[in-house]
Amino acid sequence: MNLDQLIDIDRNHIWHPYTSMTEPLPVYPVERAERCSIHLKDGRVLTDGMSSWWAAVHGYNHPVLNTAVEQQLKQMSHIMFGGLTHEPAVELTQKLLDITPPSLQKVFYCDSGSVAVEVAMKMALQYWIAQDMSNKSKFASIRSGYHGDTWNAMSVCDPDTGMHHIFSKALPIQHFVPQPQCRFNDTDAEKDLLAMEQLLEEKHQELAAVILEPIVQGAGGMWFYSPAYLKGVRQLCDRYSVLLIADEIATGFGRTGKLFACEHAGIEPDIMCLGKAITGGYMSFAATLTTTKVAETISQGAPGVFMHGPTFMGNPLACAVANASIDLLLSSDWQSKVKHIESQLINGLQACKELSNVVDVRCLGAIGVVELSRTVDMAAVQKHFVELGVWVRPFGKNVYLMPPFIITDEELSKLCDAVYQVVKKEGER
Ligand SMILES: *Cc1c(COP(=O)(O)O)cnc(C)c1O
Repeated sequence: MNLDQLIDIDRNHIWHPYTSMTEPLPVYPVERAERCSIHLKDGRVLTDGMSSWWAAVHGYNHPVLNTAVEQQLKQMSHIMFGGLTHEPAVELTQKLLDITPPSLQKVFYCDSGSVAVEVAMKMALQYWIAQDMSNKSKFASIRSGYHGDTWNAMSVCDPDTGMHHIFSKALPIQHFVPQPQCRFNDTDAEKDLLAMEQLLEEKHQELAAVILEPIVQGAGGMWFYSPAYLKGVRQLCDRYSVLLIADEIATGFGRTGKLFACEHAGIEPDIMCLGKAITGGYMSFAATLTTTKVAETISQGAPGVFMHGPTFMGNPLACAVANASIDLLLSSDWQSKVKHIESQLINGLQACKELSNVVDVRCLGAIGVVELSRTVDMAAVQKHFVELGVWVRPFGKNVYLMPPFIITDEELSKLCDAVYQVVKKEGER
């Protein structure tokens, strides 16, 4: 197929994420990707600053991950999980138990992050139903959160910035408290916690759980908040008998400098969602983990089972590549790599602070965010980045980098320089 044909069929018939079918922004056909390079079909090569949305932590086309997939493919790519089990899933479970907070002991596998969030919310509901407290059926969250695009996941996304406000009439009503203003390095979160305390005090009898992204809020605003806040929320959930769901789909597997962001606060959630980087970005897969207490309570109440079971549950190919990806991560010196990326992001993005259209620059782990005073002109900005030989996809007012952990110093400087140039140009608009 020639390039024109490809673009033509794509443009006329394929939906891309959050795009118009009548006036889609241009898409760039990719031939292949390797390490931190995306090779476009037209011959250009872009340095990747996005890890394909938090996922490709080891870069693309990794020989170890490729081998894991190839070997599993020869055994079976998939087998139903009802009544059957297999080594890739069991091995992955043991690995997850070894690295996640110790109280999380029961694992549910599904196909994507959004489904993992649905599963987490259903677990919380069934936990209370099993104890004859079905009135505890609502969820509380913090503003600027993002938890996915499926129905109930949408209901706990920020009602304004969370991209789903147009559906609000059809969505269950949940409760929101303001986004915590205490920054990552602040040690005091008292003021921010007041709203959560008030909400839980008033509504705990109807609340099943608080759901939040620990420490780093992703797609809802790329905001980092203080571990003291997370610690405070954990205490409040305990005090008011409300479960805590930590959505670590974006933050898990090292991105924030800890293997899981909950570790910054030294807390353990009752339910944790994992996704994105779990397979090193190779395929769609996710997990929801919970405690023995939650799992046993669900299993002892009516109907006696957890009511969920997707067709591709525990997919062996995904489990095999997840096993290889976790081994690769743990056997690498990922902590120093992420630290190194952090200091390079701090240095490399610092110049942006001087620009008049920049309101904030923040970096944590392998995440660097430049927040602008207004929403970027996506079409112009995207084109400019590609011309500069990098792949960076801004969102709203935020231009951000979250490169694969294997990125070289030269590649990362190229990314930071491109961000500076594009943001500067954007300010002249
Ligand atoms: C991406 C994301 C999701 C949704 O995951 P999908 O795989 O896109 O369904 C949920 N929660 C958070 C925090 C995410 O970043």
